[in-house]
Amino acid sequence: MPSHDPTASPSPAVSSAKPQRQALTDSVYEAIKAMVMDHEIVPGARVGIESLSRSLQVSPTPVREALARLESDGLLVKRSLAGYRATELLTPEGMEQLFEMRLLLEPRAAALAATYADEAQLDTLEQLLDAMQSRPEVDGRYAAYRDFVALDQRFHDAIAVGAARPLLADAIERLHSHLHIFRLRSVPGAGEPTLAEHERIVRAVLRRSPERASEAMTEHLRLSLERQRNQEGVS
Ligand SMILES: [Zn+2]
Repeated sequence: MPSHDPTASPSPAVSSAKPQRQALTDSVYEAIKAMVMDHEIVPGARVGIESLSRSLQVSPTPVREALARLESDGLLVKRSLAGYRATELLTPEGMEQLFEMRLLLEPRAAALAATYADEAQLDTLEQLLDAMQSRPEVDGRYAAYRDFVALDQRFHDAIAVGAARPLLADAIERLHSHLHIFRLRSVPGAGEPTLAEHERIVRAVLRRSPERASEAMTEHLRLSLERQRNQEGVS
């Protein structure tokens, strides 16, 4: 299972403190995830444990563990006898439905966070905002925008955690929205508007204004759906 701890550092530096085996599994997971995100593993394609362990020059064990994690991310599916396959990309309808769900869940989470987030959670939000300022990169291959996507996801998860409703937070995290959206295509130039929109959300939460927080989140989700729609037909 991937870590859902919103306070966990995205920096690869922390992995040196982990046991070696865990570090290996993590790096195998990231390597295969990048292949899926960049479509080197084509949507719908079979994903073989043997061939991956050969090309990554590792034993099958970390590959198997990585594939199980990618299955819980929704990037792979397991068919009992046929093994793993990459999931299909979001269709335009799938994208609309994903944002429909997000618009149901996340403005509510932002409103609750404005009321219930504790000091430590507010600090986390501000830190995530700062960290994103230094990584406004969303173009190109997954390796280039990975940190931005991870921070964006963690920002939304942190709002959800601040809502003090574990079921709501779980529902939001399980969507893995950012992975599925960015796997479809990274949106050139989305970095800066995203930062400004996140800033508005944080300001409302810090002011303890549920209404404004909910509005700011709604606005952010509407605008990012709009950015996605404008990319349709562009590869
Ligand atoms: Zn966002």
